[in-house]
Amino acid sequence: MNEKLINYLLTTIQPKDPLIRRLEQDAKEDHVPIMDPIGIELLLQLIRVQKPDKILEIGTAIGYSAIRMAQSHPKTYVVTIERDEARAEEAIENMKQADLTDRIKLIIGDALEVEEEVRESAPFDFVFIDAAKGQYQQFFKIYAKYIPSGGMVVSDNVLFKGYVSGEASGNQRLEKIGDKIRSYNEWLIKHPDFYTTIVPVGDGIAISVKR
Ligand code: SAH
Ligand code: MG
Repeated sequence: MNEKLINYLLTTIQPKDPLIRRLEQDAKEDHVPIMDPIGIELLLQLIRVQKPDKILEIGTAIGYSAIRMAQSHPKTYVVTIERDEARAEEAIENMKQADLTDRIKLIIGDALEVEEEVRESAPFDFVFIDAAKGQYQQFFKIYAKYIPSGGMVVSDNVLFKGYVSGEASGNQRLEKIGDKIRSYNEWLIKHPDFYTTIVPVGDGIAISVKR
């Protein structure tokens, strides 16, 4: 999105409570890649439409998106997975401060390895994938079976700073990640069990609905 458009859209976002603003500040200072400010508004709106009983999030970081998702739909329960222990501890602290420990369950571990523990809370009518960019397809394959018909999967960063469409280039490391995400997108749009659409908001969001 061009800068003018982004700046305009930023002016349309409702004021956020002090805890949320503090988390955004912490993330900025510590270079934690929390969701884009415009992208998360779309995620929260999808949750308000979908009204999921249970959300599964892959990639908690410091708990920013988990807290915002729980706040956006007071009846929902969030299970979220984080493999970095320091971040997970910070997330737990933040969930306490948000008074949401009864509606958010944090699983510390690699999402590729904690299926059994996640399964205890299944099914999930909403899954948010926002972790290692090279593993999206594996995450999807593991957890798609716990989603009922009509359930939704949202994948973040599917346009990855312009490196997926070819708009951006010149950084080999980012180009490689872009290549991985492009092949995930190709696989995802052809998935026989889901309808997928990619929206160029934030860092690119794929919205998949189970048939
Ligand atoms: N969803 C968060 C941001 C997540 S950043 C928000 O918007 O607030 C991505 C996080 O995913 C990082 O903290 C990283 O440690 C974690 N992660 C990456 N790969 C993972 C994996 N395989 N299992 C669990 N967590 C993972
Ligand atoms: Mg992200």
